[in-house]
Amino acid sequence: MQKDLLRLESEARQRLSGVSSLAELEEIRRKYLGKKGSVTQLLKSLGSVAPEERPALGQAINDLKNRVAAEADAVMLRLEAEAERMRLEAERLDITLPGRGPMQGRRHPLTRIMDEIKSIFIGLGFQIAEGPEVETDRYNFEALNIPSDHPARDTQDSFYISDSVLLRTHTSPVQIHCMEDGEPPFRFIMPGRTYRRDAVTSRHSPIFHQVEGLVIDRDVTFTDLKGILTVFSRQMFGQDTRMRFRPDFFPFTEPSAEIAVSCFVCKGKGCRLCSGSGWLEILGAGMVHPKVIANVGHDPEKWQGFAFGMGVERIALLKYGIDDIRHFFEGDLRFLNQF
Ligand SMILES: [Zn+2]
Repeated sequence: MQKDLLRLESEARQRLSGVSSLAELEEIRRKYLGKKGSVTQLLKSLGSVAPEERPALGQAINDLKNRVAAEADAVMLRLEAEAERMRLEAERLDITLPGRGPMQGRRHPLTRIMDEIKSIFIGLGFQIAEGPEVETDRYNFEALNIPSDHPARDTQDSFYISDSVLLRTHTSPVQIHCMEDGEPPFRFIMPGRTYRRDAVTSRHSPIFHQVEGLVIDRDVTFTDLKGILTVFSRQMFGQDTRMRFRPDFFPFTEPSAEIAVSCFVCKGKGCRLCSGSGWLEILGAGMVHPKVIANVGHDPEKWQGFAFGMGVERIALLKYGIDDIRHFFEGDLRFLNQF
């Protein structure tokens, strides 16, 4: 019997020494120390031993049981320590690595130009107004003196939602909202997004941005228009900027002018940016047509004014020397990060 005990203990120790997981350890515990385990079976078999041998043998089996249990506990501590070490190793931080800073956002180049335009006009006493991008025929055309046979109404040019509802083709309808909603005098700029059915090319996009301006007051003349736009152009393009006014036609202004500024790159000598002309066309403007003032319920005998509009993309292309309008809408960080 003593020999059996020695053999059992040596076998249990041998197996415990090779254990590599807690599951395996539990398996061995069950095999030797569990209710049906080998050591427990030995204790149960004491009944068949001669009474005088029982105490000594019982003591020996209990000692064996305690030693195997102690050994199993030691193995368990070793496995747990090993698991903890692996966990710490996995979570180890290399504090010598260079840090990863947060990505810094930037204002979009169109937003920058728009903000620049706004701040110049705010400095000249203008308020900022906004209007809906989905407009009715009346606001986009009718009230602006654009008759129903005007080419601007061509469905080729406009995104119609229904017969009389469309995406605004310019920011001019905001003029109508402003004039309807209050009493003159008015001094507004109206920045916003506009839509036309243009194919996407390096020069055209079906979505683009305009800034519209409107001044309505008593005794406003074309000289006031020239004065305001000259101040604006010099702040935007440089104090030595010269202005060129040429007659143009818009249904909602009379007289109307197309306005160019002297090229800020070549100062008028002629270069690639201005296609050799020395001038950059940036604005359309004119005295508000008396019909438009009457259309919104004000007296054109009493109130006069001027309006102007500019394309934000065009100004951004010129100012930043960009050759393709599509860059503004593609969201390519290699482009946007340059601003
Ligand atoms: Zn030039």
